[in-house]
Amino acid sequence: MKRRNTPDPRLTTPRRAGAPLPFARHPRWAAVADADWNDWRWQMRNALRRPEQFEALFALSGDERQALASLGDGLPVSVTPFYASLMDPDDPDCPLRRTIIPRTAEHTIGPDELKDPCGEDADTVAPGLVHRYPDRVLFLAVGTCAVYCRYCTRSRMVGGAEGYSFQRAKWQMAVDYIARHPEIRDVLISGGDPLLLEDNHLDDLLGMLRAVPHVEIIRIGTKIPAVLPQRITPRLTQILRKYHPFMMSLHFLHPSELVPEVVAACERLADAGIPLGSQTVLLKGVNDDATVLKELMHRLLMARVRPYYLYQCDPIQGSAHFRTPVQTGIRMIESLRGHTSGYAVPTFVIDTPGGGGKVPVSPHYVIGQMGEQWVLRNWANKVYEYTDPALGQPNGDG
Ligand code: SF4
Repeated sequence: MKRRNTPDPRLTTPRRAGAPLPFARHPRWAAVADADWNDWRWQMRNALRRPEQFEALFALSGDERQALASLGDGLPVSVTPFYASLMDPDDPDCPLRRTIIPRTAEHTIGPDELKDPCGEDADTVAPGLVHRYPDRVLFLAVGTCAVYCRYCTRSRMVGGAEGYSFQRAKWQMAVDYIARHPEIRDVLISGGDPLLLEDNHLDDLLGMLRAVPHVEIIRIGTKIPAVLPQRITPRLTQILRKYHPFMMSLHFLHPSELVPEVVAACERLADAGIPLGSQTVLLKGVNDDATVLKELMHRLLMARVRPYYLYQCDPIQGSAHFRTPVQTGIRMIESLRGHTSGYAVPTFVIDTPGGGGKVPVSPHYVIGQMGEQWVLRNWANKVYEYTDPALGQPNGDG
């Protein structure tokens, strides 16, 4: 039953290119009928939420046990049987397990850490609606998730009692705001996880937004394909495809998430014509390793998901054990750029504390400039020069 994830033998064993990773249910659920296992509602009903449920499935460390026993009214704990099966029951340092089972380090709050590090509350203009950038809004439509990530930027507001309640009246206030602001052309629905909404509610919400004439694109940010791929049903994709131009950002952390069920869920979304981009949070001891990150990006591309953002972990309260130095992120991008397909290189961003929005942070490839002369360093650290077109000359800009 020992299934170590660091390093995960499934990732180090030579395979045919693109061969799927093996997946096995945790023995606890081996006898569950396929019809139940493949039903997303069964997965949600049987999610692990109480300390004794984790105790029964995992060889908990003393620190995990203590953290589970002292959760209080902060971010709750929850994990679907599917995602729990991806975790090493014996190794507390399993990358996925580190992100879901709490540690007591969560209770240590550093001086630079904030409840709302991205300053979303200050830019909230209607219930659940954040209007920061001129032409787009963030629509926090639901407050629950299938799993609760211990590094979550919105840990201050997800998992509360009202999470599952149907909120059409609040949605209407947010949609009314959007309708009054013709400059809004892009709506990103997030939460919580919007794909936990029932089909009819999600259809309703998307229909309300699509009815606003100036809304050009609608996007959903979700972790569901990684943690509850059973939710990506044919009925759901039928609904989503009605609302093109419609796009999705999928939250992935580690290559061991890309098991066949997950790849198939991504393919169902891609087959519905939905452009898929990934979002990955860079986390200490989880994915701050160039080999792991490259394998993740390659597996995402194989699942038809384009690597989009690599995030610096936000300084939420109790996050020091997850956060890496900014230099680590720069090094990760350096290890990808030029060393693999450009499509496999996400943009590394810091969501600046205080509401400044995302700032891209890149390695320095421009190492000098004088007038028209640019001195550039390439991926292999070789130096080249480039000359701008002469200003004022034919075909120049002057
Ligand atoms: S799924 Fe997203 S919103 Fe939910 S806990 Fe994880 S990071 Fe936060």
